[in-house]
Amino acid sequence: MESYKALVEKQRAFFRTGKTKEVKFRIESLEKLRKAVRDHEEELMKALYVDLHKTEFDAYATEIGFVLHEIRFVLKNLNSWVKPRKVKTPMTHIGSTSMIYPEPYGVSLIIAPWNYPFQLAVAPLIGAIAAGNCSILKPSELTPSTSTLMAKLIKETFPEEYIAVVEGAVATSQALLAEQFDYIFFTGSVPVGKVIMEAAAKNLTPVTLELGGKSPCIVEKTANLKLAAKRIAWGKYLNAGQTCIAPDYLYIQENCKDEFLIFFKEAIKEMFADRETYTRIVSERHFIRLREFLNDGSIYAGGHADQTSLWIEPTVLTNITWNDSVMEEEIFGPILPVLEFEDLDEVIQQIQEKPNPLALYLFSENQEVQEKIINNISFGGGCVNDTIYHITSPYLPFGGVGSSGVGAYHGKGSFDTFSHEKSILKQTTKFDIPFRYPNVKNGLKKI
Ligand code: NAD
Repeated sequence: MESYKALVEKQRAFFRTGKTKEVKFRIESLEKLRKAVRDHEEELMKALYVDLHKTEFDAYATEIGFVLHEIRFVLKNLNSWVKPRKVKTPMTHIGSTSMIYPEPYGVSLIIAPWNYPFQLAVAPLIGAIAAGNCSILKPSELTPSTSTLMAKLIKETFPEEYIAVVEGAVATSQALLAEQFDYIFFTGSVPVGKVIMEAAAKNLTPVTLELGGKSPCIVEKTANLKLAAKRIAWGKYLNAGQTCIAPDYLYIQENCKDEFLIFFKEAIKEMFADRETYTRIVSERHFIRLREFLNDGSIYAGGHADQTSLWIEPTVLTNITWNDSVMEEEIFGPILPVLEFEDLDEVIQQIQEKPNPLALYLFSENQEVQEKIINNISFGGGCVNDTIYHITSPYLPFGGVGSSGVGAYHGKGSFDTFSHEKSILKQTTKFDIPFRYPNVKNGLKKI
């Protein structure tokens, strides 16, 4: 197994020079990263096409544009985020002031998945740079063109003692995890999340785990069904359903199912009918796993698949029960099972019994229903009357809860994730309050 000890030590030595803590250095680094992304925009689009057949529109909207937007937001706010913050001091501490100093952890490891291979590697990196850390980035081996291009882009832009890309698969990831890092940021599946947390525990390294799970999408009778159909179809079939926060399954009130499904079929046709421009399934293994699900329930829409081109048609499955295999694990593909409900309490109870979802979407015009769902189900985050959009706001930290993840990022959340908040009490020397000392009976004592 290759060792990355030398690389980690090199980065730690660079971190200790204090260079990465300089705000000017952080800003310049983010500007360099922005320039590198812009300069490689076309190559990135090509790589994303080779790896996943992403259209230029999708590649820009969900990967390149997302990253550029995040850099812009951080650059606009970084000067205020880095400043030590004064907080309240209790009366009992009279004479002193209380401050919080954000400080970088040191050398961070970022391990990324394949589904948005550029965005999910670079968005955490932006947080690591902003907070003043050094970073080693391990992209996914399943999207090799994007991985190689990222390695090139980073190598051209930064010295490896500051930011380095290490390409490789599981063995590489494990060799990296054998080293001691000061922070580990992982995005990927729940089982691998556990492996990461175990490795981090050996050195008590703090972690962020951005994981997955089955994200429900609930449509209640008061919903605007036509708009719901359009927004759900978009969120589900974008990137061929290979989105961690895609609506995994639909839970719809039975008296509006038929009308909704008609709108839904139309929405699919309008947005995703062109097979030529539809995103591919990442690998044959994933394709075979997904194709099995097509045997569950009845096919209401779609249902075709082609192994040679790793294409699966946007599909809707009806007559589904909780016992079907499609309901057992996260689907992560363009297949939407539809479950029906009569009473909202039934929905709450069913979801509460399952692992905490990463996202939840509710379509309803009823405020009481909205509050009931938000307050009775624990999930990472989500939307009312939309899908996916919550992650595009830099003001909303994004992350899971329970088995869908630990920690959050995006916008200021990314800066906070990669910073330790150091609490400092600055005490006066003008006087000394004696009560805390043993055997002191007098009041204020002049020094
Ligand atoms: P994965 O867990 O298989 O792999 C993620 C990364 O971990 C890759 O870089 C891989 O090389 C590495 N890895 C795999 N096995 C490992 C092991 N045993 N030890 C150490 N490293 C290992 O995930 P994936 O298939 O790339 O991505 C799909 C999953 O990621 C889905 O579950 C999805 O929900 C989740 N995801 C979550 C988010 C989020 O932001 N919460 C975003 C995208 C994807």
